[in-house]
Amino acid sequence: MKVGIIGAAGRMGRMLIEATLANPETELAAAVDVPGSSLIGVDAGELVGAGKLGVTVGDDLAAVAGQADVFIDFTVPEATARNIETCRQAGSRLVIGTTGLNDEQKARLRAASEEVAICFAPNYSVGVNLCFKLLETAAAVLGDDVDIEIIEAHHRHKIDAPSGTALRMGEVVAQTLGRDLNECAVYGREGRTGERDRQTIGFETIRGGDIVGDHTVLFAAEGERVEITHKASSRMAFARGAVRAALWLGAQPKGLFDMQDVLGLAGESAGWGAR
Ligand code: NAD
Repeated sequence: MKVGIIGAAGRMGRMLIEATLANPETELAAAVDVPGSSLIGVDAGELVGAGKLGVTVGDDLAAVAGQADVFIDFTVPEATARNIETCRQAGSRLVIGTTGLNDEQKARLRAASEEVAICFAPNYSVGVNLCFKLLETAAAVLGDDVDIEIIEAHHRHKIDAPSGTALRMGEVVAQTLGRDLNECAVYGREGRTGERDRQTIGFETIRGGDIVGDHTVLFAAEGERVEITHKASSRMAFARGAVRAALWLGAQPKGLFDMQDVLGLAGESAGWGAR
């Protein structure tokens, strides 16, 4: 399958090039980054020390939209929103890893998925997606008898908080417990907060150094607590998952999917909040 990488010069973009080259079922067919980048015109293989591949990094997605079966986009929300439109017009499938999309951008994504196949997941690691499933079980068993806190840590360059994965974990738990995350989420605490309300779901964010991505969901009861933790040690976990999603998406004519669909884990309450 021919794969195009958008945001090819970025931290994830380079991993995605490597993962595409490493997978025997995928071929790198296009690479795009932001106009004005010093890396436009460079051979994509040279970005990952793989020598020349004959695929240069371009700055115009529309110009190469027909060259790949599936594009993988790990950029910034504003760019992703434009890329969704370009892919819709070109009829190209799209795997989106960008986090921090606002409601309007998610609505555009939903609309475009009526015409083309889109996979949108806040986290493409297989381990994290397994955790989403474990969280459903934990929340269903522990119910309203526990305080639930979600703690996440990422590198100092991350520009959004809490992480898309932490929010998704919150949604999975809230959905299982019949709560609306928009109403029950508490983002950080300071000063005289008063006693904790058990119906709330708390989020704490840590930013520092080169932490790839740690997430813990804490279920704290009287006398015991359960913690479900995932730690990513390399971005390659996300890149491999995104390439797996691209291969899976190749068989879908249209629709909005997430990594739970790709892994066959989608159940009653699974499915990204954009749906
Ligand atoms: P990064 O800043 O290293 O890379 C982003 C790249 O996008 C840069 O090369 C930048 O030049 C490029 N870009 C910006 N605007 C563009 C445009 N208009 N057209 C084309 N390219 C453009 O960031 P990163 O660490 O690689 O993360 C990128 C995104 O992926 C973030 O939103 C991050 O949160 C997300 N992410 C998601 C997952 C997941 O599994 N879903 C995992 C890791 C990171």
